Amino acid sequence: MAILDIRVLGDPILREQTVPVEAVTDALRSFINDMFETMYAAEGIGLAAPQVGRRERVAVVDVDDRPLVLVNPEIVARGGSAKAEEGCLSIPEIFGSVERAERVTVRAVDRDGVAFELEAEGLLARCIQHEIDHLDGKLFIDYLSMLKRRSVAKAWDKEVQQYPNFIRDLARELAEDTKRSRRSKSRERDGAATPPIE
Ligand code: ZN
Repeated sequence: MAILDIRVLGDPILREQTVPVEAVTDALRSFINDMFETMYAAEGIGLAAPQVGRRERVAVVDVDDRPLVLVNPEIVARGGSAKAEEGCLSIPEIFGSVERAERVTVRAVDRDGVAFELEAEGLLARCIQHEIDHLDGKLFIDYLSMLKRRSVAKAWDKEVQQYPNFIRDLARELAEDTKRSRRSKSRERDGAATPPIE
């Protein structure tokens, strides 16, 4: 397994449509394992293929210690609405309140190539919608008001400078974190109090 680089806002792949998977192969399963490893390393609860530079219609989610693989996911029903704060592994340090359906039914294929349907609500439903948006080139900031989007753009202009070529080198971040925590044991991980959706 490997920790993959994360693409951040500005990389065109985050705005592209993904391609449906025709068959779940060993190669795809190994990629899915890497996605989980990357998501856990980043302390996220979801990750979509475009965020690691790939075009397959695949996402992984883990809410409440329930790992979920979504190959070719589609939302087939939705109900209610709820507003909550979201973040994104591809837009670090930026957060915003997003209104989404409170409940969804998602149809997808699992890591064995078996089709399934799942009803989700609350945080899991939100996370699934956020990830499927990624597969359609959409980001949570698209839902924010014009005013809020303008302030996000300003904050991101500064933030993005630490990601040359829009690449977030997670393995290096983790190595630096380890070095730092050796120097100062009391240092808390930034953002740990607000887990980003993905
Ligand atoms: Zn995201």
